[in-house]
Amino acid sequence: ENLIEIAAVSRTYLDANENTVEALKGISLSIKKGEFLSIIGPSGCGKTTLLRLIAGLDAPESGKITLEGETITAPDPHRGYVFQQGSLFPWLTVEKNIAAGLKARGVYQKEKGEVAKYLALIGLEGFEKAYPHQISGGMAQRVAIARSLINRPAALLLDEPMGALDSFTRADLQDKLLELWQRDQTTMILVTHDVDEAVYLSDRIVIMTPRPGTISEILDIRLPRP
Ligand code: ADP
Ligand code: ADP
Repeated sequence: ENLIEIAAVSRTYLDANENTVEALKGISLSIKKGEFLSIIGPSGCGKTTLLRLIAGLDAPESGKITLEGETITAPDPHRGYVFQQGSLFPWLTVEKNIAAGLKARGVYQKEKGEVAKYLALIGLEGFEKAYPHQISGGMAQRVAIARSLINRPAALLLDEPMGALDSFTRADLQDKLLELWQRDQTTMILVTHDVDEAVYLSDRIVIMTPRPGTISEILDIRLPRP
């Protein structure tokens, strides 16, 4: 069963000189439910553009993207999005940031219990009253992940969430992400330019080439899971 179908999707931008840049050209890709998919490729190949289209943060010019058969037209907490860094509300505590995920869905009941549960899942008990500037970058990314997961999204869309972290913190967050994926089997779509990271985490890797938007090859990597 495919969760997401990307069919012949194209997206162009105008650069500073008003020239058309083809960020994505005729991309097609199916993503299975529960899959941990990594999209890798060099800077500028269209990874972020593709992820933003799946998120509904941007719309394709042609082609179509569906989630469970429904065309994606707008952002929805059903597809949690985690940015590279700095997406927490700086004026809210860790627990309020996580609760903001629930509020986005209009759920107010049992909020406290859910927030505590997700705080524990990401290993940040004791930090509920801390503000984003009082925690490390790795901790902040875990909070961002919890804020998305609390909505139980059909897919978690991760745009280089570890890109700004040092290697020790990155290894830590990779293991946390694997643990969360194994626990809930949430479909994970990870954009990264770190090949090792993609191999370590994924079931499947999509490689995008330097030619904007052409997927050159799809490797199906089946990893034995511990
Ligand atoms: P990646 O995430 O792989 O680095 P992007 O999706 O960010 O690639 O960008 C793909 C191409 O589209 C690049 O050539 C980039 O310069 C261009 N691009 C992306 N977003 C914009 C934008 N908002 N305006 C103009 N050009 C853009
Ligand atoms: P991470 O825990 O995400 O890997 P670090 O490696 O920077 O991030 O932090 C290691 C540990 O140090 C954290 O798990 C936490 O226990 C503690 N720590 C980091 N920053 C702070 C802080 N601002 N206040 C209190 N403890 C902190």
